[in-house]
Amino acid sequence: MSARARLHAAGPDARLSSPSRRHPRPPAADTAAEVVVGPVRTCVGCRNAGPRSVLLRVVAATTDAGDPAVVVDVRRALPGRGAWLHPDPRCLELAERRRAFPRALRLAGPLDTSAVREHLGDD
Ligand SMILES: [Zn+2]
Repeated sequence: MSARARLHAAGPDARLSSPSRRHPRPPAADTAAEVVVGPVRTCVGCRNAGPRSVLLRVVAATTDAGDPAVVVDVRRALPGRGAWLHPDPRCLELAERRRAFPRALRLAGPLDTSAVREHLGDD
């Protein structure tokens, strides 16, 4: 509801009288509107999109016992196929229920997600 007020305040083009180009207006200036910056990814849990910088990247790995598992790629730099997840236990739960990890990572069978759960601090 307050969006309307903002639109009104902004106006279409308040400054028309500026013949010279003395206002280069550096793009880095409005950090106030730090909304969608950079690439967007889709959470495999809730299926909503979010900025890449917010979502966790998870990749396939194996546990100490040699079982297939999912781990958090903290630096988002590991090679191979990855899946994206909000740092939210609910999204992890949804992803597990939907078997989203095996699908996203192109793996068969259940995957151990305890490492991801730990990372989220399951509460
Ligand atoms: Zn999510």
